[in-house]
Amino acid sequence: MHYDYLIVGAGLYGAVCAHELTKTGKKVLVVEKRPHIGGNCYTENVEGINVHTYGPHIFHTNSDIVWNYVNQFASFNDFVNRPKANFKGEIYSLPFNMYTFEKMWGVKTGEEAKAIIETQKNQAGIKEPSNLEEQAISLVGKDIYEKLVKGYTEKQWGRDCKELPPSIIKRLPVRFEYNDNYFDAKYQGIPIGGYTALIKKMLGGAEVLLNTDYLSERDALDKMADKIIYTGSIDSFFDYSEGRLEYRTVRFETEILDVKDYQGNAVINYTDRETPYTRIIEHKHFEFGQQEKTVVSKEYSMNYSIDSEPYYPINDSKNNQCYMKYKDLAEKQGKVIFGGRLGEYKYYNMDDVIESALNMIKTIIK
Ligand SMILES: Cc1cc2nc3c(=O)[nH]c(=O)nc-3n(C[C@H](O)[C@H](O)[C@H](O)COP(=O)(O)OP(=O)(O)OC[C@H]3O[C@@H](n4cnc5c(N)ncnc54)[C@H](O)[C@@H]3O)c2cc1C
Repeated sequence: MHYDYLIVGAGLYGAVCAHELTKTGKKVLVVEKRPHIGGNCYTENVEGINVHTYGPHIFHTNSDIVWNYVNQFASFNDFVNRPKANFKGEIYSLPFNMYTFEKMWGVKTGEEAKAIIETQKNQAGIKEPSNLEEQAISLVGKDIYEKLVKGYTEKQWGRDCKELPPSIIKRLPVRFEYNDNYFDAKYQGIPIGGYTALIKKMLGGAEVLLNTDYLSERDALDKMADKIIYTGSIDSFFDYSEGRLEYRTVRFETEILDVKDYQGNAVINYTDRETPYTRIIEHKHFEFGQQEKTVVSKEYSMNYSIDSEPYYPINDSKNNQCYMKYKDLAEKQGKVIFGGRLGEYKYYNMDDVIESALNMIKTIIK
């Protein structure tokens, strides 16, 4: 069998490409090394609940094009992400907004909250923040930094906040209004029935081979297609010739509980340093589930090793320089196009990855 395109990876990027190419009559083979489609968006049905196996995924976008695009494959519910923080048993609203400030300081207006933040910033003597700690204090004051930012961030990055660059939280959402909608997006929701069903529809016209690692069957697979779209990690494609790109990774401990509701919310962050996990996800709340049981996942942030899943690229200058060397090599590969979060070593939200795949396809379909 010969194909026009071989797509490596059945995640969102690969699935959008597969859909667009098969729509124009191209013959497409998708190979996926995992035993399932969907990449990190994969959802698995457990006790009637769609479990976000690789972490909570909330679809949000400002793009009409992307929103109309995904709505071809699924209906979306009106879930709005309103995470909470648990600091040693005290519950706070996230992202930082008037509900957070009211609980922390008893203030009722934005002006009162701003005045407290300004005072705490001045007391800390910060003019130009030189690290994440100073950046956070100048944005939200010392109290919020100590209770809601410090422990969580140090668990996430495995480093002291004083050793982290201020840029990590440059865009920390802070609202001086009673608005706890985490994403400031025009559209937001969860695909009813889960992401796996949505991606399965996208892949409908293509042939899909699961449990197939492109890198170990490369010679045979290369001969089967005229062109390749590769969404695996770019450094592995080149056998790490320029060094290994680094990631942060996460691990989940998931359990089924014999209670209807465990925490009353989809996501609760544990912001103290002592609790080993960063957050607990209660999956049924993404789809307003009424099942008798519930499924919860504790998320632990970890250093990346060769055996773990690469999750978040660490886009510091060392890794970016290394990536640029791979990008140069990639540009010399006539037959292969690199895309997606691993292929481009870039943190992509789902809407960005769809947009990027659609734009790339436009350039190759004449
Ligand atoms: C914890 C977490 C939470 C997130 N939450 C959100 C959110 O709330 N909202 C949002 O918009 N985005 C979110 N994202 C981002 C979202 O997951 C990505 O945008 C999306 O998954 C990227 O799709 P992709 O196809 O580029 O990559 P992936 O989903 O990683 O797909 C790549 C696929 O390629 C396969 N592959 C790799 N190498 C090979 C090989 N050699 N052979 C065969 N197959 C291979 C992999 O197994 C994988 O299935 C989150 C990401 C994480 C990590």
